[in-house]
Amino acid sequence: MNKSGKNYQATTISDLSAGGRVVLHDELHLTGSEVSINELPPNVSVPFVHAHKRNEEVYVVLKGKGRFYLDGEEFDIVEGSVVRVDPVGQRCIAASPDSALRFICIQTEAKSLVQHTKDDGVLLEAKPSWLK
Ligand code: ZN
Repeated sequence: MNKSGKNYQATTISDLSAGGRVVLHDELHLTGSEVSINELPPNVSVPFVHAHKRNEEVYVVLKGKGRFYLDGEEFDIVEGSVVRVDPVGQRCIAASPDSALRFICIQTEAKSLVQHTKDDGVLLEAKPSWLK
């Protein structure tokens, strides 16, 4: 529960169309993952290759197309592509010359997941107005 007595934080990302990166850590008070929503304009690359010490990353392409560099290999990514990278994986991502690239990047500590959704979810009696 947060300071305001609620069990959640919510936000609306207002202007991603101009490109850029929205990191949700502070706004959502994230405690188990890092989530960023990113948009690279056409023909723009993240300007470095990087790896991580402990976190694996999952890249989910929402829109557009581009290229992914991973440990010396390069491959195309398109809307719907999902790429998981081990912490030590050397990675870079770029938008295609003719397309912006919008993607979510989720970081979590590698090997930290000790249960899956079906083991962790708990069905409750509470119901929103749209459930009968
Ligand atoms: Zn990273």
